[in-house]
Amino acid sequence: MTIISSLIYLIASVLFILALRGLSHPESARKGLTFGIVGMALVMVTALFDPRVSEWLWIIIGVGIGGSIGAYIARNIEMTALPQLIAAFHSLVGMSAVCVAGAAFYNPENYDIGIPGDIKLVSLIEMSLGLAIGAITFTGSIVAWGKLQGIINGKSVVFSGQHKLNALLGISLMVMLVLLCATGSAFWFWGIAIFALILGVLMIIPIGSADMPVIISMLNSYSGWAAAGIGFTLHNNLLIIIGALVGASGAILSYIMCKGMNRSFFNVILGGFGGNDSVSGVQDMGDRSAKIGAAEDAAYIMKNASKVIIIPGYGMAVAQAQHALREMADILKADGVDVKYAIHPVAGRMPGHMNVLLAEATVPYDEVFEMEDINRDFAQADVAYVIGANDITNPSAKNDPTSPIYGMPILDVEKAKTVLFVKRSLGSGYAGIDNSLFFEQNTMMLLGDAKKMTENIIKAME
Ligand code: NDP
Repeated sequence: MTIISSLIYLIASVLFILALRGLSHPESARKGLTFGIVGMALVMVTALFDPRVSEWLWIIIGVGIGGSIGAYIARNIEMTALPQLIAAFHSLVGMSAVCVAGAAFYNPENYDIGIPGDIKLVSLIEMSLGLAIGAITFTGSIVAWGKLQGIINGKSVVFSGQHKLNALLGISLMVMLVLLCATGSAFWFWGIAIFALILGVLMIIPIGSADMPVIISMLNSYSGWAAAGIGFTLHNNLLIIIGALVGASGAILSYIMCKGMNRSFFNVILGGFGGNDSVSGVQDMGDRSAKIGAAEDAAYIMKNASKVIIIPGYGMAVAQAQHALREMADILKADGVDVKYAIHPVAGRMPGHMNVLLAEATVPYDEVFEMEDINRDFAQADVAYVIGANDITNPSAKNDPTSPIYGMPILDVEKAKTVLFVKRSLGSGYAGIDNSLFFEQNTMMLLGDAKKMTENIIKAME
């Protein structure tokens, strides 16, 4: 590699780090994306001019097909379908790692790592790690995609001895890794590939769809490490750096999500949780009755409030109510009402889901607050306007040790003077449990589609 291309790769690495930094906040996300795009363009052009590239045709055809499919998907994908799209993309990274490992194993001289049957030990170690992680990522991501897309049953699939089988496969993988490095035999190479492909499936099938987003970020981390493995095989420092960045950031994100859902990080990494789906549906509501209100009531209450906190959840995403919501907030603000948005770390179905939708509706960033920054404000709020959210407000997470979500931090909406709950029924949220908040004295249920209800409130306000 020439000094110039090394220098460009170094610049691109810095651009990717800046991209990740930018993406950590909605306000800087666009700038972050620009850094990423420029970095990627630099890398692609530099790779094309690498003296080892003897023919451009296949590369251009590949970039053309891949770029067109990518552009089509980016323009047409529904916001709610992003998690499965990400899972599908991860499977491609895993597959690339397996293909590169295979190409290097059978043509080592092209990669400068030895000759067939006599590959350098360090290269065999890197190659076998990339192969194993890539194969796990490939099949694991395909199962995750199938579950999220509804093609595979989203319920947790468990059978007796599952953990033991996973452990046995894991140990066998490590033994085969050592044997491949010791012998360089193709038998062990394919043994690793097959066992890792099976392990990828077995690790993801026990995960219920409620926990799937954590798995997506975990697979994101795996795909990063697989890319780093490819980087070692290809002697490409840039891939090593980027792979490690993706691997580490995916692991940190998984950790943050687990904390937000009160799950054990290590259980997720080992693929050993997710029995959530066994939780029964709506629990017995006894003779409790909920106060049902109309849009006009909500408009009156909010017009007379001085402080309103809006709590968006998955239902807002389903109804695409974010634009109507911003319009309603604008009317309230024009009347001198203080309006803020409270975002729970796992509101919706993927990290940052609510932030992205609110940003799309041009809600000012300084009105959007994370849970830990706004939770104490509920006690002073006149109205908590909960729109399409449920579990993230459920007090059983605080006061019912038998609840499946016990220990999960929640938004303290019940402390507001009035809680307005917009949803279509008194049914449960994703965790499948009853929410006692619907029956509290200070709660008014506004039953209906989130967008339609908010539009009706706007009409009533006007
Ligand atoms: P919930 O799933 O708890 O509640 C969403 C509510 O929206 C439902 O109760 C539903 O009630 C209502 N709803 C659905 N469609 C509409 C509509 N068109 N109009 C109005 N309401 C609607 O979502 P939350 O955001 O409160 O909580 C997120 C849940 O997802 C948590 O359990 C969390 O653990 C889980 N989760 C989130 C992850 C993430 O990364 N964000 C990761 C993993 C899990 P109804 O049918 O009565 O309308």
